[in-house]
Amino acid sequence: MFVRVAVNIPTDRTFVYRVPPKLEADAAPGKRVLVPFGGRTLAAYILELMPATDYPETKDVIRLLDTEPLFGAADLLFYQWIADYYLQPIGKVLAEALPSGINPKTNRIFRLIPHAEPVSPEHFTVDEMNLLTFLQHHSEGVTGAELGRILPAKALKKALRTLQNRNLVVVEDRMKQAGITARKEKWLIPVRPSPTGITLTVRQHDLMQLIENKGEISLGALRTHMLFSPALLKALKDKGAIAVIEKESLRTSDVPDRNCGRTQPPTLNRDQQKAILKIRKKLDVPAFSVCLLHGVTGSGKTEVYLQAMAQALCDGGGALYLVPEISLTTQLVDRIQGRFPDLDIAVWHSDIPETIRYDQWKRLLRGEIRLVVGARSAVFAPVRNLKLIIVDEEHDGSYKQDERTRYNGRDAALIKGKLNQATVVLGSATPGVQAYHAAQSGKYTYLSLPGRVENRPLPQVEVISMAEERDASGAIPILSSPLLTAISESLTGGYQTLLFLNRRGFNTFLYCPDCRHVFTCPNCTVSLTYHGETGRLHCHYCDYIEPIAGTCPACGGGRVIRYGVGTERLEKEVRKHFPQAKVGRMDRDTVSGRGSREGILRRLEKREIDILVGTQMITKGHDFPHINLIGVISADLSLNIPDFRAAERTFQLLTQVSGRSGRGEVPGRVIIQTVNPGHYAVARACNHDYTSFYEDEIALRKAFSYPPFTRMITLHLSAIHKDQAEKDLAVLKADLNHLRRQERRYQYIDVLGPTRSPIEKIRGRYRWQILLKGREIGPLHDLARAVAGLEKQGTLRIVPDVDPFNFM
Ligand SMILES: [Zn+2]
Ligand SMILES: [Zn+2]
Repeated sequence: MFVRVAVNIPTDRTFVYRVPPKLEADAAPGKRVLVPFGGRTLAAYILELMPATDYPETKDVIRLLDTEPLFGAADLLFYQWIADYYLQPIGKVLAEALPSGINPKTNRIFRLIPHAEPVSPEHFTVDEMNLLTFLQHHSEGVTGAELGRILPAKALKKALRTLQNRNLVVVEDRMKQAGITARKEKWLIPVRPSPTGITLTVRQHDLMQLIENKGEISLGALRTHMLFSPALLKALKDKGAIAVIEKESLRTSDVPDRNCGRTQPPTLNRDQQKAILKIRKKLDVPAFSVCLLHGVTGSGKTEVYLQAMAQALCDGGGALYLVPEISLTTQLVDRIQGRFPDLDIAVWHSDIPETIRYDQWKRLLRGEIRLVVGARSAVFAPVRNLKLIIVDEEHDGSYKQDERTRYNGRDAALIKGKLNQATVVLGSATPGVQAYHAAQSGKYTYLSLPGRVENRPLPQVEVISMAEERDASGAIPILSSPLLTAISESLTGGYQTLLFLNRRGFNTFLYCPDCRHVFTCPNCTVSLTYHGETGRLHCHYCDYIEPIAGTCPACGGGRVIRYGVGTERLEKEVRKHFPQAKVGRMDRDTVSGRGSREGILRRLEKREIDILVGTQMITKGHDFPHINLIGVISADLSLNIPDFRAAERTFQLLTQVSGRSGRGEVPGRVIIQTVNPGHYAVARACNHDYTSFYEDEIALRKAFSYPPFTRMITLHLSAIHKDQAEKDLAVLKADLNHLRRQERRYQYIDVLGPTRSPIEKIRGRYRWQILLKGREIGPLHDLARAVAGLEKQGTLRIVPDVDPFNFM
């Protein structure tokens, strides 16, 4: 028998191995095997079993790594789709999808060959002698790192080569146990039939009684019992009354039960009822369908999700609930657990320990867990009998992963739904232009929640034109006077304020007024940000940090002007104006530790913070009834991003951040500071007018042939040496043109570039991009694959970014 396997290496190819007869019975698709691979030993994923192969040469599988498959045939179809659509190797996708840390690693070991001819010093150099002596004392073998302590790298390499050539030293790959394996637990069971002719002491008898009453009991559970003592247990075992067996024990995530006990669903308003009725109808038929739940902020979308889940779960089905941000899961999991107290829930995101994820993975495969709540990676969770997928805040950019395997969790959820004949509910207050377009054209079922729960009003939004604002010194202030007045009113009333600024640090720009030198990162073409907490200049794109200079490095001038406001500076400004207020800050600098974001939110909940300053983190999903004022310090930051989605992002951001206010009894108020008060994204957000925004935006998209009217693939190219890269780019461009002349279907593709990327250099790599635009994704995929596979790309690294995904 043979198997076709995928390996986590950068290639599109899969590989065939022979399965030795003794392993044949256990080999199955979805299991991992250990295989010899180009001098190394690697873990590989079995994709299919093959009775025969016409492969000329096949090597043997070394051993199987799993007793149960880690994925089934339907799961594999899904992973394969991710690989094909996002132009990624299947082995890489599988490695990303499956719990990490389960693959064993190999260690390269150097060992002296036993019984080699006796060593006489005159035939060896000093280095070689030193190595031989060391290896003689470590006959079990040592790693390269250990040898590195005896000799410098170059000398070591030379000496080792000589010794290997003279057949004195061998190199072996030795497997290291995987970091994560199944956990075993000891269980005690009474021996049946009970042995005759043994006598038990009173205490032994009592303990025996306890074990018999339970039928079986884990050692861990028994230890906590007052009757337990190790000596008693040993006596029972020695007398043959009990037996000890090992069973696998599965770890679970600690689902908090702060609000333990069952909570009852609240009464729904008419719109919610209508929405849930439609979703239920979809769930009744085992067919793929998509609903777009468009509900304004605070309209009770979560309640609709919960009731839809109740239906899917009560029919024995599985459900997947995706949220964009990890910090949202704590509040949410409490709420779900309260509604389904008898159900095990898998909480799924990157902060969940790998060991727990591994065990949850197995329990999902066995159907023991049917509900998963998590961030984008939860889309890979192998939920059985999947009936419902919810993608909350479907417009959110954090569903897209731009590192490792590039994919979009929202789009992947649609494909997963399609492969599983499931219902997918996409929810948002500000649906993506593409999603709304799909609903308009009848591809999605459109469900609307136009009002807030309990008829609470949407916040009142004011726009302040910053071009006209001046402070006492005549400069444009950080906080406009209407915003200052509003904050002080909110404080007096005992309410809370959120101030949003999507830029961290103190000053975002430093320059010399004498020679106009701007302080930039040596590795990236971006300006350095001054951070007050470290007193240094930081690059936000790489790890570069430098001390702040008193003089200009270009002209030696003694003046350095600091300019641009980040959240640190904003916090200081707020404290200056409102010394009596309790001020908090939430950005990547203050929430670096695990759980610190929850800490800040808890303080906000307990009203230990009056004014919270923060980046995009504060705009999402939180529900705090005492916030009555939102200040947007600059609406212009997101408008100025060079991307065709800049207006859409700005509208979404402003609407989402506004939606954080007025969620309790008090009506909310929002103040937006901008130098573009007339921009349609700002104006429509102020009036809570999604429909008009959509109409403005879709007309522009159509006029400029942007998605959803076209499909796009961006090829990101990068290289370390600019001159060589530019030569390679010229060759690449010629090849690309040649490809297009050859194939007729490529002639309908618009090719823009190669052009310099908006940020020309990041982490020492120069960057360019090529934009492929066309009506059909197929030819775009093929052309992108062809370009990435060109042999003459030279020093260029090419990363395809396939986006956005147009469904059906
Ligand atoms: Zn200067
Ligand atoms: Zn940098």
